[in-house]
Amino acid sequence: MKIAILSRKSSLYSTRRLREAAEEKGHNVLIVDYLRCYMNITSHRPMIIYQENALNDIDAIIPRIGASKTFYGTAVVRQFEMMGVFPTNESQAISRSRDKLRSLQLLARNGIGLPVTGFAHSTKDIDGLLETVGGAPVVIKLLEGTQGIGVVLTETSQAAKSVIEAFRGLDANILVQEFIKEAKGMDIRCFVVGGKVIASMKRQGAEGEFRSNLHRGGFAENIKLTPEERSTAVRAAKTMGLNIAGVDLLRSNHGPVVMEVNSSPGLEGIEESTGVDVAAKIIEFIEKNAHNKNKIKDRIKG
Ligand code: ADP
Ligand code: MG
Repeated sequence: MKIAILSRKSSLYSTRRLREAAEEKGHNVLIVDYLRCYMNITSHRPMIIYQENALNDIDAIIPRIGASKTFYGTAVVRQFEMMGVFPTNESQAISRSRDKLRSLQLLARNGIGLPVTGFAHSTKDIDGLLETVGGAPVVIKLLEGTQGIGVVLTETSQAAKSVIEAFRGLDANILVQEFIKEAKGMDIRCFVVGGKVIASMKRQGAEGEFRSNLHRGGFAENIKLTPEERSTAVRAAKTMGLNIAGVDLLRSNHGPVVMEVNSSPGLEGIEESTGVDVAAKIIEFIEKNAHNKNKIKDRIKG
């Protein structure tokens, strides 16, 4: 098969590993910088041009779209879909996963455990908002944040109010969440491929840090999931319409709760801490499913 990896850089660990795994299985691999693709949107013959060539012989794509490039990146994925190319994750599912509020609303609608979460537009409504999530301590998150930046723990209502006012003063969108203290700075990344958790790791925050992000000095190791955690991760990915997903869970007193679902989960931390050949699992998923092309299957209403 001819497989295109949509990635800005061929030297990134995940991109490199996916290429290796695909080539090992005898596939032809092309790395495509999706920001350098341009498109011809016509009803009878949609086209994508990259480095002066029309990409018209690709069987499957693996989108690795950066969070800040979602708009253009998903347009490129959609164009491939119009051409009947099989994507590991569909454009609609990627867009959906990039909107944190929409994602949490969808997960809640499908009965998936979440930390009690609130959001509001006006600072006039802060008191009520804090009350709905059970009062301090609360975690306040910037909707656009990643790598733990913009995630703040506030111990008192007064501190929470000040932080919310400061963020809103900068016109930043936020959500407010119950603080899952019992997680003790640990979260679980479940790597889902084709409806199965194929690898999972726990990430523990540095001493005195409630955020477990590896970028914040946390460390990762293999973890065995409970059946409930496993099924929560699988259901969360399915709810989002993602074939490939990194589902982040916290162990709370009321069972596993989902924090976020990532549509381009990185391979480095998970392969290193578990020893699982995640890249090979993704290529095997393509081998099993790429013949379903021409059938965009997203049926999620929301
Ligand atoms: P980011 O997208 O920046 O990684 P997250 O929502 O994943 O933001 O939060 C970063 C980290 O903070 C999580 O990995 C987790 O360890 C911790 N955390 C986030 N929300 C909560 C919460 N409600 N209760 C306890 N810890 C949390
Ligand atoms: Mg996170």
